Formats: sequence, structure tokens, C-alpha cells
Amino acid sequence: MILPIYTYGQPVLRKEAQDITADYPDLKQLIADMFETLTQADGVGLAAPQIGKDIRLVVIDLDVLKEDMPEYDGFKKVYINPYIIEYDDTETDSQEEGCLSLPAIHEKVTRPKRIRVEYLDSDFQLHDEWVDGFLARCMQHEFDHLDGKMFVDRISPLRKQLIKNKLKALLQGRFRCGYKTKLLPRK
Ligand code: ZN
Repeated sequence: MILPIYTYGQPVLRKEAQDITADYPDLKQLIADMFETLTQADGVGLAAPQIGKDIRLVVIDLDVLKEDMPEYDGFKKVYINPYIIEYDDTETDSQEEGCLSLPAIHEKVTRPKRIRVEYLDSDFQLHDEWVDGFLARCMQHEFDHLDGKMFVDRISPLRKQLIKNKLKALLQGRFRCGYKTKLLPRK
């Protein structure tokens, strides 16, 4: 089932998400729905707050990038209760990011190139690994959502000022995108 995506201004995107346990209701279905929603919206990553749930659950699908990045052929993964436990600050890079919760906004974000992450996979097996490249960026973006952060929090005050009107338009529901979104309550 395709789920509506919560966009900028929805309070759930600013909440600290909670860890879940293996008995979380209908978890398998929720994960399947998140992948379906992600694919339909042409995204590479989706965090549970983006579909209105304040839980630490993320799906990443980099298989769609395999033509440019063959190392991600078949890459579709679920991250449960993920945390970044270490940053390798020796190298950062700056790349343009977008977000399904911020339609029509693309900005360069500087992030460390290498991170150490801890998470449970879909079988609730614990992983502790160093990650780099595009996946590391994608994880940092998605895991930020679980801490109530969005990529526009990581751009310079000047850039933020320059996109002020776009953000305001999102808050007012004045935007178009090719996927279903959750309407904000009218103020
Ligand atoms: Zn996002």
C-alpha cells in the first residue's frame, strides 16, 4: 500500500523517534509499504517519520542507481533502531540533496564521508559497520530524520534565507509533486 508522505511542517518530522522491538505490530507489512511508497515516489531513502510514525525505522533502495553506481546493484535494505556511533571527520564532501518531505528543494550539504553505524536488520540481527560513499550520505540524511532533523537544518544561514519562500510555500501547501502527501492542518 502506498502511504502518504508527510512534508515540511508536520510535527512528526521534528520528533525524536523511538526504538522498536520485534513485536512491533505489522512490522513486515509496514516495511513492504515503505518500500512501495519509496519506489513510487522515485526516492532512494525513506524514514518512518516521513510516513507519520515516530519510530526508528528506515528503508534504503540504491538499486535504482545501479546504472551509474553498479556497486549498489540489488541494494535494498532495512535499518531498524539505527544510530551513527562514530564519524570519521578527516574527510567531508558537499553534495546536493533532496528529500521527499521537501518537494522542489535541492541544496548542497556538507557531511563526513565515512561513518560507523549500528543497526538491526529485518531479522533483528545487530550490525556494527563502517560505511562510506553515497550510502554513508544517504544514511546520514535518513537517520537525521529519526532525530527530528532535516537537511535544510544543515545548510548555511544564507542559503536558508534564500529558500525561505520555498519553505513557506511548503508550510502553506503550495507545492506540487508526483506522489501522495499528507495535508497539513489549515491554520
Ligand atoms: Zn529526507
